[in-house]
Parts: sequence; C-alpha cells; structure tokens
Amino acid sequence: MASPVLAAGMSRLGTETAFDVLAKAKALEDQGRDIINLGIGQPDFKTPDNIVEAAIKALRDGHHGYTPANGIAPLREAVAADIAKYRGVEVDPDCVVVVPGGKVTMFFAILMFGEAGAEIIYPNPGFPIYESMIEFSGAKAVPMPLHEKTGFSFSADEVLSQVTPATRLIILNSPANPTGGVVPRVEIDRLVEGLEAHPQVVVMSDEIYSRMLYDGRKHVSLLEYESIRDRVILLDGWSKTYAMTGWRMGYGVWPKALADKATRLAINCNSCVNAAAQYAGIEALTGPQDEPDKMVAAFDERRKVIMTDLNQLPGFSCIEPAGAFYAFPNVTGTGISAGELQNRMLEEAGVATVAGTSFGAFGEGYIRFSYANSTENIQEAIRRIRRLL
Ligand code: PLP
Repeated sequence: MASPVLAAGMSRLGTETAFDVLAKAKALEDQGRDIINLGIGQPDFKTPDNIVEAAIKALRDGHHGYTPANGIAPLREAVAADIAKYRGVEVDPDCVVVVPGGKVTMFFAILMFGEAGAEIIYPNPGFPIYESMIEFSGAKAVPMPLHEKTGFSFSADEVLSQVTPATRLIILNSPANPTGGVVPRVEIDRLVEGLEAHPQVVVMSDEIYSRMLYDGRKHVSLLEYESIRDRVILLDGWSKTYAMTGWRMGYGVWPKALADKATRLAINCNSCVNAAAQYAGIEALTGPQDEPDKMVAAFDERRKVIMTDLNQLPGFSCIEPAGAFYAFPNVTGTGISAGELQNRMLEEAGVATVAGTSFGAFGEGYIRFSYANSTENIQEAIRRIRRLL
C-alpha cells in the first residue's frame, strides 16, 4: 500500500515535552523505581469539594446534552463578574467563549491569524504550544526573548523592534510558564503605547496563572488597556486556579468582532464544553475562594524552599520566581546541557523535571522545576540531585 500523504503542516507540528517526561517517569515507576515528579505543570491538590458536588448535581439535574457552543449564559456571566472582580474591567459576557481548556483559546487564536506570509511573535522560552501551533499554521514564528536578568520579562523596545507589517499577533504570558517570571507594569505600558502605532496587531494575553502571584504582587491584565481593548484576546481558565486540569475548562475573552469567529471554530471543533463541567465552573468562580487561596499559600512556601535549595546545588543559580509554580534555574555552571541533565536527573536520580530547551531554543542552560509537589518531596528531590552532581 502507498504511504498516506499527510498535510504539510503535520511535519511542522511540535509537542509539549512535559507529557513525554510524564510518560517516561510513569514507565520507570512501573519498573518499581521511586520517582519524584517535578516535571508536570499541574496543582497537586484535589478539585475543591464544592466544585465536584456542583458537577454531580448538574448531572443529576439532567444537564447531559449539548449547550450553546460558546458556553451556558450563567457561566459566561460568572466569567465576566470574575474579570470585574479580579481585573477591575467590565467585559460583555457575549465576548466570552468557553472552551475545553486554556490551550484551546491559543489554538483558535493562532488558527485565526496564522498562515504563510504572516508573522506571530511569541515568548521564548515559553509554553511550547505557541511555537508549535504557529509553525503548523505556516506563519513565521518570531521569538520574543525573555531575559533572566530582568526576572524573565520581555523588553518592550525589543518586542516593538520585531514588529513588521506582516505581524498579526503577539502572544504574551505573565505570570509565565516555564520561568515563573512576571512582566512589570512599566514594560507592558511601554509595549501598549508602542502598539498604538501598529493597529493591525492583535495581542493574545495568556493569563492562566493570574491568581498565582507572590510577595503582594498585583496582576496586570492586558484587558486594562483601553487603547487596545478592541484587539486583546484574554486566555484564562480553571485548570490551574482551581486544580481542574483534567476537567478541560478554559475561556477566551475575545474582541466583539472576533467572538463569533471563535465560536464558529468551537462549533467546527468541539461543539461545546462538557455540560456538567460548565456548572462546576460556575461554582468555582462564584463559590468560596478559600481553597484556591490556600493552594497559593502552599505554593508560596514551597517556592521559598525550592529557591533556597536550588541555589545551594553546585552549578545552579535560581532567581526568585514571582508567579505561577515553576522555578527556572540557570544550570550552565554544571557544564551539562539542559537535555542531558534532565535525562540524568530522571534516570539516575529519579527526579522528573523538564529541560529548558523544551520551551524553545532560548531555554538552553535552564531546567524547569514545577514545585506543585510536597515540601518533603521537593527537599528529597534536591538531595538526590546533589548526590548526582
Ligand atoms: N497556558 C500556559 C502558559 C500553560 O502553562 C498551560 C498549561 O500548562 C496552558 C496555557 C494550558 O492550560 P489547559 O490545561 O487549561 O489547557
């Protein structure tokens, strides 16, 4: 039989290596090895009970059918109220499109703007799906370098110097995966000011870690900027804030002119999000917030532990992560490449992490540690790595 002929984009599609690391760690565990997983980016807490109960009730109440493709109205209203509460911005619930996970908003945004001849600027090191999907779309992926010396922020001047008439979309992510970096307000102010000269450029702001900020920092949302409000796509969701990664619940807030197009993509792709999960999503946003707040307090404690301990490892230096639940130490002092160190830490020390190069070429020399794990496990992992080094 002749081989199947795939669309050219398939050869350009990348992946998220964290899932490969998870599979490898699982295989080692199945062989009886004791593995500490600091590789996967998901909270180690259970979804709060009130949210689980809301989903069970929704199923018992008969919410088992299709819903409107953009999500049920009370959920979109709850999202709008949440944005007013945490970001101080009024949005129209009709601009909210609920999708199966945070990832789907980036998938739709990149499909909407990416094609041969277009350019999309994305953070590097950054969430690997940005680069993968841009390449898949045929657009030119233009890396926005993030700098360790500025807490892994971008430089607005550097980003603006990369904008060309072909630039259609700029992707931002703060607080960030994999660096834990948070972009200071002044840098965002400067970027927005500069973008006023480029009215064709849309910004997709991935704010999925917006509730995970430390030392009293306040989240800066791109939606706060009136001058570009009609070309900002906000990406957020339930996965990280409410420990709901497996529920597949996310949303985009789209400019009015684009919301129907995003909904049309949803109709072509997923029809709607699981109906019972949508009811759980309402409870998450409108119910008590003490469980998510407790999770962030626990992450903060572990953040301090991991930062101190990583800085004591020979060849490692780690700046303070300001948000999310990742530490991104510089490991160039070990003289070992990020990829080799990742493999050796997993195979020889039983500690799963992700090499910085999984997040783009500018991640060489770094390793991502997720501290969504217990303090005891974090401390034991560092002891094992110290022995290895
Ligand atoms: N955006 C960033 C920056 C992430 O780190 C992740 C998940 O790790 C996502 C989006 C995707 O989230 P979800 O699991 O809700 O699709």
